[in-house]
Amino acid sequence: MQGILYFDVCSLPIFLVILVTVFVRRMTKGHSNRLFIGIILVSAMSAIMDVLMEFFCHDVPVTGLRMFVAQLSTYMYFITRNGTIFGYFLFIFAITGTWYRIRPKHRMIVVGTPYAFVLAMILTNPITGSVFTISSEEGYRRGYAIFVLYAISVLYATLGTIYLISCRKFLSTGKIASLVALYLLSFASAAVQLFFPALLVEMVTTSFALILVVLFVLRPEEVTDASIGSMSFNAYKNDLRRILLTKQKVQIAAICFTNAAELRAYLGEERYLAYASYVVDQLESMFRKERVYFGIYFEHPGTVYIVVDGTEYSFDEAQHRLADELRRSAGKAASAGERIIPRACSISIPEELNDFDEIIKFGREFHTYLPTNRIFTTASEIISSRDYKVISNIDEILNRAITQKKFCMYYQPIYSVERKKFVSAEALIRLNDEEYGFISPGLFIPAAEKRGVILPIGDFVLEDVHRFIAENMPESLDYIEINLSVAQCMQEELPAKLAYLGEKYGVAPGRINLEITETTYENMGNVMEFNLDALSGMGYSFSLDDYGTGYSNMHRVSKLPLKIIKLDKTLIDDMSTDEGFSIVRNTVKMMRDIDKELVAEGVETKEDLGRLEAVGCDFIQGYYFSKPLPAEDFIKFINEHNKVNA
Ligand code: C2E
Ligand code: CA
Ligand code: CA
Repeated sequence: MQGILYFDVCSLPIFLVILVTVFVRRMTKGHSNRLFIGIILVSAMSAIMDVLMEFFCHDVPVTGLRMFVAQLSTYMYFITRNGTIFGYFLFIFAITGTWYRIRPKHRMIVVGTPYAFVLAMILTNPITGSVFTISSEEGYRRGYAIFVLYAISVLYATLGTIYLISCRKFLSTGKIASLVALYLLSFASAAVQLFFPALLVEMVTTSFALILVVLFVLRPEEVTDASIGSMSFNAYKNDLRRILLTKQKVQIAAICFTNAAELRAYLGEERYLAYASYVVDQLESMFRKERVYFGIYFEHPGTVYIVVDGTEYSFDEAQHRLADELRRSAGKAASAGERIIPRACSISIPEELNDFDEIIKFGREFHTYLPTNRIFTTASEIISSRDYKVISNIDEILNRAITQKKFCMYYQPIYSVERKKFVSAEALIRLNDEEYGFISPGLFIPAAEKRGVILPIGDFVLEDVHRFIAENMPESLDYIEINLSVAQCMQEELPAKLAYLGEKYGVAPGRINLEITETTYENMGNVMEFNLDALSGMGYSFSLDDYGTGYSNMHRVSKLPLKIIKLDKTLIDDMSTDEGFSIVRNTVKMMRDIDKELVAEGVETKEDLGRLEAVGCDFIQGYYFSKPLPAEDFIKFINEHNKVNA
C-alpha cells in the first residue's frame, strides 16, 4: 500500500519541471498561460494533499493531531482535485478564445455551477458525511456522494471534449488531440482510482497529460514574443482571424510607437526592447486593473495591440486613462531625447472595420493620418478623413491620373540672399483628381513608390520640366530643381533619358538640379552610384533634400557629388529656440567649410529670414516669398520681382 504512494510523490517533481519550463519559456502572459500555471499549482497541491491523506489516514487509527491533518488534507484534496477538472474546462475556453460565446454575466454561472455544487457537497460533508468520513475506528471511508463527484468530473470531461471538437477549426489538429488526450488520460486514471482506490496513479497521469499541453498546445514560439514578453504578432493575426470568422464583437486598441525604428537604431536592440517591454508591461497592468478580458500583442519594431471584449468595454471612456498611462510610462523609462512617441487608435470590430487585411494595414498605418498633437483617436475618425479615403482608393486614383494625364507641375521660387533676387525654383508635382480634388504629393508619391508606378510619373515630371525650361523659363533664373525618387535613381537608363530630353528640348545640364534624399542614399545600389557619377560627369548638379530629418552621416555627405544641401523645414521651425538656432548656425558653417551651398526650406516668417541671413544661408525657399505656383503665375511672379530688384 505505501509503495503505491510513490506515484504521487513522483508527480511532484514533474509538476515542478513543468512550472520551471513555463517560466523559462516566458509563457506567463495572457489568459490561457496564467490559467495553465494555476492548473499546475492546484494539481501539485492536490498531489501533496493526496500524499498527506494517504499517509495520515490509512492503516492506522487516527487520533488527535493526526486526525486534524488527515481531515484537512482530505478536504483540501477534494477541493483542489475537483478544481483542476474545472480549471481544464476554463482553460479550453481560454485557449480556443471562445469566451465571447457566453454572455459575460452568464459565464461563471454556466461553467461554474457544477463545481459550485461539488464545493457545496464538500463543505457540507462535516455534517452530512456523504463524501467521506474519517474516524479513529474505521479510518477513511468513502461516502455515496463520492460517485456524484466522479459523475460531475465525467460531465466536465464529456462536455469539454465535445466543446473541443466543436472548436476544431480554431486550433490545429495536434492541439485538439493533445487537449482531448488530457481529458482521456485524467478520465482513465480517475476510473482506475474509482475501482482500485489503492492505486494512486491519478496525479502522475495528470502530470504527464500536462506535459502534453506544454509541448503541443502552449507553443510559445507561436504565440509569445520572447523579446517583449507579450503575445506575438502571429498570435494577433491568428486571434484576429478567429474573431472575424466567428463574428465576435471586439475592440482593438492599436498603439504605435511612431519613432520605434529610430529609437531602436539609436538605443540599440537590447535597450530599446527593454524600454518597449516596460511600456507594454505598464499597459498590461493597466488593463488588468480595468478588469476587462484582454489579449496584448506586440509587433516589431513597435506596435502594441490590445484586444478587449467589445460588448463589455469601450475605449471612448478609457482613452484619457490610456493616453495618461502612455505619457507616463513612455516618459518614465526614457531620458531626454530618446522617448517613445506613442499614438493610439481604437477599432471597433466589426462596426468600423471587418476585413482582415484592412485591419492589419490600419493598425500599422493609422498614425500617419492622426494629427500630431493628439495621442488617441478612433478608427471612424480616421476612416472618414479625406486622406484615408484617398489612400484607400489610391490605386484607382493613380491609374486614372496616369492614363488621363492629370498631373501638372507647380514651381516654388528660390531666393538668393547674396544676389537679392530669385535665382531658381523647385518643380513640385500636383495631381487634380476629378473626385477628390487636389491631392498632396506627400500622399500620392510614397503610394506610387510602393505600388511601383512612380516611373511613369517621374518621366512626366522630367519631360514637363524640360519643356518648361526650353519654352517658358524666365531668363533671370539659373536652374530648376527636380525631385528624383529612389526608383528613378536606380533606373539604369536615367542618364540616357536625361541626355535624350536635354537634346530634344535643347536644355543644358546646368539648367537642372536633381534633388535626392538621404533615404535614397541608404537604398543606394550600384546602379545609383553609377548614375550619380555619370550624371555629375554630364554636368548635372545634385541637392540633398530634407537634411536634418534622418540620421545624417557627414562623411557620406562630404563624399557624394552634392552641390547643395537643403535644410528641412523642421530645422527652420526650431530656430526660434537658442538650441535650434545654434544647430542651424553650426550646420551652415560646417556645410560651407566643405563647399556646399545651402537652401533653407519652409521659411514662413520675416524672423526666420533674418536669422538665416545672419548665419549666412545662401538660398531661401518658402511661403514667406511664395507658395508653389502654376507655371503661368510663377512666370509672372518672377518677372515682377526680379525686375524690381534688378
Ligand atoms: P519636398 O521635396 O521637401 O518639397 C517641399 C515641400 O514643402 C513642398 O510640398 C512645398 O510645397 C512645401 N513647402 C515649401 N515651402 C513651405 C513653407 O513655407 N511652409 C510649408 N508648410 N510648406 C512649404 P509639396 O509640394 O506638397 O511636396 C511634398 C513632397 O512630395 C515633396 O517634399 C517631395 O518629396 C514630393 N514631391 C513633390 N513633387 C515631386 C516630384 O515631382 N517628384 C517626386 N519624386 N517627388 C515629389
Ligand atoms: Ca524637394
Ligand atoms: Ca524638402
